[in-house]
Amino acid sequence: MKKIEKALAQYWGFETFLPLQRQAMECISRGTDSVVVLPTGGGKSLCFQAPAVTMPGLAVVVSPLISLMKDQVDALKECGVAAERIDSSLSVSQQNNVFARINQNELKLLYLSPERLLSGNFLAVLRKANLSFIAIDEAHCVSMWGHDFRPEYRQLGSLKELFGDITIAAYTATATDHVRGDIAEQLKLKNPQILVGSFDRPNLVYKVQPRNNITKQVCSVIDRHKGESGIIYCIRRKDVDGICAQLESKGYSVAPYHAGMNAADRKKNQDMFITEKVDIIVATVAFGMGIDKSNVRYVIHTGMPKSLEHYQQESGRGGRDGLEAECSLFYSGGDYGTWKSLMRDMPTEAYKIAMVKLGNMYNYCTAGVCRHKAILKYFGQNIDTDSCNACDMCLGEFEYIDDALIIAQKILSCIVRLEQMFGGSYVALVLIGSKDKRIIENSHDMLSTYGLLSDYSKHTVRDWIEQLTGQDYIEKYGEYNVLGVTEKGRTVLKGLQTPRLLKPVVQKAKVKLSKAVTDSWEGVDKELFEALRKLRSTIAGKKKIPAYVVFGDAALRDMARKRPASLDTFLDVKGVGEKKYKKYGETFIAAIKDYCFEHSLDMDVEGY
Ligand code: ADP
Repeated sequence: MKKIEKALAQYWGFETFLPLQRQAMECISRGTDSVVVLPTGGGKSLCFQAPAVTMPGLAVVVSPLISLMKDQVDALKECGVAAERIDSSLSVSQQNNVFARINQNELKLLYLSPERLLSGNFLAVLRKANLSFIAIDEAHCVSMWGHDFRPEYRQLGSLKELFGDITIAAYTATATDHVRGDIAEQLKLKNPQILVGSFDRPNLVYKVQPRNNITKQVCSVIDRHKGESGIIYCIRRKDVDGICAQLESKGYSVAPYHAGMNAADRKKNQDMFITEKVDIIVATVAFGMGIDKSNVRYVIHTGMPKSLEHYQQESGRGGRDGLEAECSLFYSGGDYGTWKSLMRDMPTEAYKIAMVKLGNMYNYCTAGVCRHKAILKYFGQNIDTDSCNACDMCLGEFEYIDDALIIAQKILSCIVRLEQMFGGSYVALVLIGSKDKRIIENSHDMLSTYGLLSDYSKHTVRDWIEQLTGQDYIEKYGEYNVLGVTEKGRTVLKGLQTPRLLKPVVQKAKVKLSKAVTDSWEGVDKELFEALRKLRSTIAGKKKIPAYVVFGDAALRDMARKRPASLDTFLDVKGVGEKKYKKYGETFIAAIKDYCFEHSLDMDVEGY
């Protein structure tokens, strides 16, 4: 482990391990098979990269996507690690060059797709090479129970036989027990150590709001993150195009991404996002797999995803560098109906499971409890604090209303008076006493519940209806989402149970953000950070590599905190290893010097 610690500092500029990284690396060093389950951003790649650098021989990394391999290999090369990949995007002479390096024992890591690893002539080359171990990235692809099964991963079950009991380390961010066990079984691992990390992402600030004026809601999030990278997810392609056009007309730097675009345009837009030529990508869920961009500072969902697994994965693309990121979700009851109809043609059993997942997702939106706790609970974990200080509920952006029982009774009895034959919007209109033509024509202005909530806006009442639905007091039926009162709802009408109802706080309470969120900005000169970001982007543009491969946001913030004046102190910056310090040290120090001179600031700030 001493060697590994030294490599960590020398190549990556890190002094400590993230949770479970040490144990995961120890497994490889000892020759114990392992299944390592860590959330996105948990630092899985380092678990195999650091041992690979220190052990004799070549480590093979199996990865499902060319973009993932390319990103990791580029980043390793930037750190001075001898790594290569072989995939279809390389020319024959480039591939031959890699083969030559394997034969001369020059490489420490080789990235491959599973089908290439198991192809005849490749096997012959690798069996001659001195392999240190095999790492399997995105290992859930081996399991049919996972969300991304790939048949070519199944053949990896023969590795143990082909490579004489070689150590195998499998990595995934998929949390379920079933998938974990299946990975170990399919890969024929021997007494594997299973390491499962906490799925909490304390640096993600979760917020959920009913959708009303989506463009305005989206802009308010973007405006909190000017010039930073963000992803906006939409359910449908036409929403992607709509939102993209709206944002473009307002002067935001955006590009669309969805499966209806041709491959070249998709790639172009993805590259522009990764190299930070555009700030924002507006996309369907087609975007994301294989994106390693570490400094996404916000993820907006303009509609409700179909499960919490999807939400966790998509929102998890924010803040991979461990710094704070905002995850804002705007939902409406209509999203529930949209998914329901999109999934209608699924086989019965799958449909049933999908509906349970959809229901859980909807409850997450409407339940009004700590978002971190709710997500963790879903994945069978817990956090032990009263307040996460990193979600809208714990940050006091909503408050419970005192007269929830009376308001709920008014809403439920209105549904009953309407003979359970109308949808949420109509019920809300009746309750606020609207003069809508349909209501007058139906004589519903004569109902005793007409205008009972006339002190509130339609939005508010509509939102309460969703909250009551999320808590199972109301049910939605049929194609038109007609509202009905459930058994549980009847107990509210009898006054035997009180639902939780929330409303936004107008004057936001002064709150303390979570430590994960505040720590990352402590002592950082934000203007200097911005200047360094621009410098990073210029360098990345010239070298045609992603900006975060030059330096991550965490390293730039540490520079803007410590303001190093010499190469010596530059090496103390978190995330600066020897290679990068030689490559970029002088340029960044010069920029820091200029800035400090202009602003009469001291350099080499101590205490961090
Ligand atoms: P995962 O593959 O689990 O999503 P990554 O391997 O991409 O996570 O790592 C996420 C981020 O954490 C990267 O920016 C990486 O540089 C950083 N990181 C990894 N290990 C450490 C460490 N020991 N100390 C500081 N940062 C780390």
